[in-house]
Amino acid sequence: MQEADFYTLLEDGHIACHLCAHACRISPGKAGVCKVRLHKDQKLFSLDYGHLIAEHADPIEKKPLFHFLPGSQAYSIASPGCNFRCAWCQNWEISQTCDMTSIEDIPFTTPENVVARALASGCESIAYTYTEPTIFYEYCRDVGRIAKANGLRNVFVTNGYMQKEVVKDMATWLDAANVDIKAFDDAVCKRYMGAHLQPVLDSCEAMVREGIWLEVTTLLVPGLNDDQTQLEGLAAFIAGNLGKVTPWHISKYYPNYEYDAAAPTSMRSIQNAVSIGRNAGLKYIYVGNAGVELPTRCHSCGEVLVERDGFHPRVNRIKQGHCPYCHTKIPGVWSGD
Ligand code: SF4
Repeated sequence: MQEADFYTLLEDGHIACHLCAHACRISPGKAGVCKVRLHKDQKLFSLDYGHLIAEHADPIEKKPLFHFLPGSQAYSIASPGCNFRCAWCQNWEISQTCDMTSIEDIPFTTPENVVARALASGCESIAYTYTEPTIFYEYCRDVGRIAKANGLRNVFVTNGYMQKEVVKDMATWLDAANVDIKAFDDAVCKRYMGAHLQPVLDSCEAMVREGIWLEVTTLLVPGLNDDQTQLEGLAAFIAGNLGKVTPWHISKYYPNYEYDAAAPTSMRSIQNAVSIGRNAGLKYIYVGNAGVELPTRCHSCGEVLVERDGFHPRVNRIKQGHCPYCHTKIPGVWSGD
């Protein structure tokens, strides 16, 4: 067990965890909502530090990050657990079923080993993904600092539920994040994820302020988050608070885990979300999991810059981060940056 950061021992003997917006108040011998941070002997411990449940080299486009070193591979790691309880979680076997005993059975991997494996596999970045990286933050940071010193970039695929001081800390070593804004209605977030909306929006704004490259994803779950009001609100938030050039990935839902009340997202619903995004002025909208490839077009002249086959760029005309037709700087992180 590794002692955690971001906590305070309270006068009444509880521990207040400041890592994520749940802000758990934890009794001795108990763990927080995430089940992987334990109060023991007046200290808080990260139970899943270095216990990796997944390790793969993935295309960076799979995260999805489309404006970040396109065509590169990201060495992708995860520890078990999550601080959300999404009923349709696609990775529920590793995010929702952990307990203290099952974590102990997972072998320990040093941060140095992760970086060595990433370098040996030719990856250009390390992605903290599949489960929620915020809840194994100390490990991510330890890996990330070594990775950065070795010329690798670092990316988070996250629900964005970390506290503000954590975003500030992340900015010292993290290059990019994809934040999943799962709904734009606090009641929906509370009921289906066990969390609130505002902290996620605050994190997105803080990441942009801190210079972390940000892309946003929304899985469209029919009848739950694909109504006009939520989508217009979300698109307006991205355009107004994060910037019109922030990429928005609209993703198709398929029934999974405990939620089968909705059929897979229809193309009509996806097209509606794309239209709402365009009406809000968003320049970079993408569709995922639906067999639809929307190319990257220059937000200034409209020329096609990147065409993809699934997760693989088939054509990439971006030259040193600029449009070759009108020479506008294309927002993102590009090779040579
Ligand atoms: S990381 Fe979040 S869920 Fe886990 S103990 Fe801390 S505040 Fe609670």
